[in-house]
Amino acid sequence: MNYEDRHEFAASLDREDPLAPFRDRFHFPRARHDYSPIYLCGNSLGLQPLLAKTYVQRELTNWADFAVDGHFHSDTPWISYHRRAAGGFAELTGAKTSEVVAMNTLTVNLHILMASFYRPTENRYKIVIESQAFPSDRYVAASQLRMHGFDAHEGLLEWTPREGETALHLSDLENLLARDGDSIALLLLPGVQYYTGQVLDMAGICELGRNAGCAVGLDLAHAIGNVEMSLHDWAPDFAAWCTYKYLNAGPGAIAGAFIHERHFGSKDFETLHGWWGHDEATRFKMEKTFTPAGGAELWQMSNPPILALAPVIAALEIFSAVELTALTKKAATLTGYLEWLIRKRFAGQIESITPEHARGCQLSLVVSDQSINPRTLFEQLCQRNVTGDWREPDVIRVAPVPLYNSYMDVFEFANRLQEAIKFSPAS
Ligand SMILES: *Cc1c(COP(=O)(O)O)cnc(C)c1O
Repeated sequence: MNYEDRHEFAASLDREDPLAPFRDRFHFPRARHDYSPIYLCGNSLGLQPLLAKTYVQRELTNWADFAVDGHFHSDTPWISYHRRAAGGFAELTGAKTSEVVAMNTLTVNLHILMASFYRPTENRYKIVIESQAFPSDRYVAASQLRMHGFDAHEGLLEWTPREGETALHLSDLENLLARDGDSIALLLLPGVQYYTGQVLDMAGICELGRNAGCAVGLDLAHAIGNVEMSLHDWAPDFAAWCTYKYLNAGPGAIAGAFIHERHFGSKDFETLHGWWGHDEATRFKMEKTFTPAGGAELWQMSNPPILALAPVIAALEIFSAVELTALTKKAATLTGYLEWLIRKRFAGQIESITPEHARGCQLSLVVSDQSINPRTLFEQLCQRNVTGDWREPDVIRVAPVPLYNSYMDVFEFANRLQEAIKFSPAS
């Protein structure tokens, strides 16, 4: 695309954008100090869909009107409420509906899935993470090692960017596996790296892991709703994601999990059981023996928190009205416009460390000009009602989300960035 640095050009892209009407389905934060909101933080917490309140209120009303009968007798019975998420999850991850389930929250799901798929032996027990792994994922891996009696320091292997680089190379993972593969039980890796915004080669990771005899688990927190995936075909053992980032389901909303169907009915591993993982047909016979549910639902334990699941259903309904390819297409031009404006206006001052050919909608910006104080710059942006986020040690993450951000948001961001720089001297 031939971009132009003009207000009218951004306005014309918005007029031609088939996804532009979706913006009206979300609540934006308020204007502050005469600045309209420029919300570029959907990678951290997506905006609230208007529909969320309707769906939460519907279940509050069902609870008021039906009480215990709400489990079976409302229009949206709680007994099967979690299944309303399965179609959307399957679509967004490229899975079968039987392979996905809405349950718990992300970190909890990683632990629950590792209880089944991290099965260390004396010689094969190590876990590969990436060196910049999100802290929660690192804590999960380290504590699982300790739970199984291994040394967390020695048992964690890191896939690291090359000296002086920030991006990860698949060939370096390949080398790591060639060297240490026999001692590795599990690869626990993200689909999109949260700090740099790099989209990892998930198919490649799954293949390398499988060939080395390791289990593979993917953390899709920054991938779901952002990039296209084919989990069933790529065939990791498991995956998990939260729903409050690109999916817009709200803080602490119920998360999702994927278990590949080759594991269904397998006796190779144990599963942590609760009554909601019991076969539904006989669940309420309250038998002493456990009859497993089919598919990913076996990993459910409790009856789900309906009020935290309702906004997930609302959010997925919006995604069901758009083609994921239309979203990724817009993401490419929208984020491309942001990157183009940054190169044009801020060369030598600010640069993106996000790989141009392996990204979703996020750009991770670093200040390269010593005369600008990055932290002050971030605060100056906040004062101008720009919401991105600061990630230690020195990155400002901004994510124009194709579902609700406009080309004008991006253009206006560049304007406010230019102003903010003037007020952010180093020293
Ligand atoms: C956002 C995110 C989390 C958050 O975990 P919760 O259990 O939802 O608090 C974990 N891991 C990664 C990679 C994330 O991006």
